[in-house]
Amino acid sequence: MATDYDAPRKNEDESESIEALKERVPDKASGSIDSEDADNPSGFELPGADLSDLELDVVVLPPQEDEFTCVSCFLVKHRSQLDHETASGPICRECAA
Ligand SMILES: [Zn+2]
Repeated sequence: MATDYDAPRKNEDESESIEALKERVPDKASGSIDSEDADNPSGFELPGADLSDLELDVVVLPPQEDEFTCVSCFLVKHRSQLDHETASGPICRECAA
């Protein structure tokens, strides 16, 4: 009886803890960003989750077909700003100058 009751209860606990973990992950991430921020006063402020979402959007933005990411300044530039390709990737005119 005890084992019969324990088995389904354990499953429930497991799925609950997994869901709780999933929900906790963003909290933990923002928490670690906060502590890193405190250790690194030169870094920019991330006061809320909204801002980190915005930052994520910017990072995720893929370069368009007529754009490239400069391997020196890591900025996405238009093809017209491409100076030359290197073994590691394209270099923009600003960085090549
Ligand atoms: Zn560049």
